[in-house]
Amino acid sequence: MSDCSALFAPLQQGLARLEQERLRRRHRVVDSATGRFALVEGRQLLNFCANDYLGLATAPALAGAAQVALSRYGSGSGASHLVCGHLRPHQTLAERLAQFLGLPAALTFATGYLANLAVPTALLGRGDAVFADRLNHASLNDGCLLSRADFVRYPHNDLDALARRLEASSARVRLIAVDAVFSMDGDLAPLDRLLALAERYDAWLYLDDAHGFGVLGQGRGSLAHWGIASPRIIYMATLGKAAGSAGAVVAGDPVLIEWLQNRARSYIYTTAAPPAVAATTLAALDLIEADSWRREQLRQHIERLRSGLAGTCYRLMDSTTPIQPILLPDNATALALAEALFERGLWVAAIRPPTVPTPRLRITLSAAHEAADIDRLLEALKDLQ
Ligand code: PMP
Repeated sequence: MSDCSALFAPLQQGLARLEQERLRRRHRVVDSATGRFALVEGRQLLNFCANDYLGLATAPALAGAAQVALSRYGSGSGASHLVCGHLRPHQTLAERLAQFLGLPAALTFATGYLANLAVPTALLGRGDAVFADRLNHASLNDGCLLSRADFVRYPHNDLDALARRLEASSARVRLIAVDAVFSMDGDLAPLDRLLALAERYDAWLYLDDAHGFGVLGQGRGSLAHWGIASPRIIYMATLGKAAGSAGAVVAGDPVLIEWLQNRARSYIYTTAAPPAVAATTLAALDLIEADSWRREQLRQHIERLRSGLAGTCYRLMDSTTPIQPILLPDNATALALAEALFERGLWVAAIRPPTVPTPRLRITLSAAHEAADIDRLLEALKDLQ
């Protein structure tokens, strides 16, 4: 066998460096559903890491819909959408999502990552420009970079800085790309003012609503929350978070959607999601519409956590969403606090660079939690301060 050590040495050194900086990542295997609880290493933990904001990932109606679709349509879709993988549940879901969002047309994707690759690459090329908030999700940044357009970033939610960059641009096609709810800070982008800028500079406005869909605007997401509409808005939401399923939707003008269907490589060149996943999402939409109590429960939990931490040494951010990060001075402190909570049966993710600029505990709340769960977390945090 030939010597491969020259190939592996830089990887081993890189991993050692990550270890030293407390940045090496490992999986924890979960032996149960990830709902209110998660079974990890033989221990039942209260789960404050999931993006299952409405508690739908463990709702029996979703699993039931998946089982019915599995027996009817089989496990795999068999091909990409444009070959023979576009089954009835995919079509019904796209139509239902468009209607639910109040937008004329929609296209579903196997994951949010793929949707974020699709839109910038299908709309932009060399000589064009994309304007992106510094705290946008990594998948959106990847899509912007892959498009080969000028990648112009502006400081978080600084719309004066964005306006200056738009003013200075002579790009042919301009796209403003933002997270509607920032995934690691939990705050909102000011969509009304962003739309005004998009109109003034004749740009597309692309919104990643991964964390707003199902939660804001009576479940219809950030467009409903802000009460805005325009053909230049391209709306994206992921379906693996509040919807408790998997995949993503891009919705907007029918011409745009048909263009994506014809031009978006991450739509065309990948196997369509299993039809049972589309059926699961359809069942989720029923509950997102019908169960407003889930959002009310969530609102109460957010308030309970925030008022419970007021007056402690913990620094919360300006977030009204189920994403409630606590900023910490360094990676070691973030890890130690997450570890101490884990020992007490509470699972909270420590998020470190490069995912975020500042280390933090990212607490996520869910309608699946009970008030007593929030109290347990508060007690442990106060004990550890
Ligand atoms: N956008 C945002 C803001 C996200 O938080 C995520 C998921 N972490 C994605 C896109 C990617 O979605 P998916 O997990 O469906 O690939």
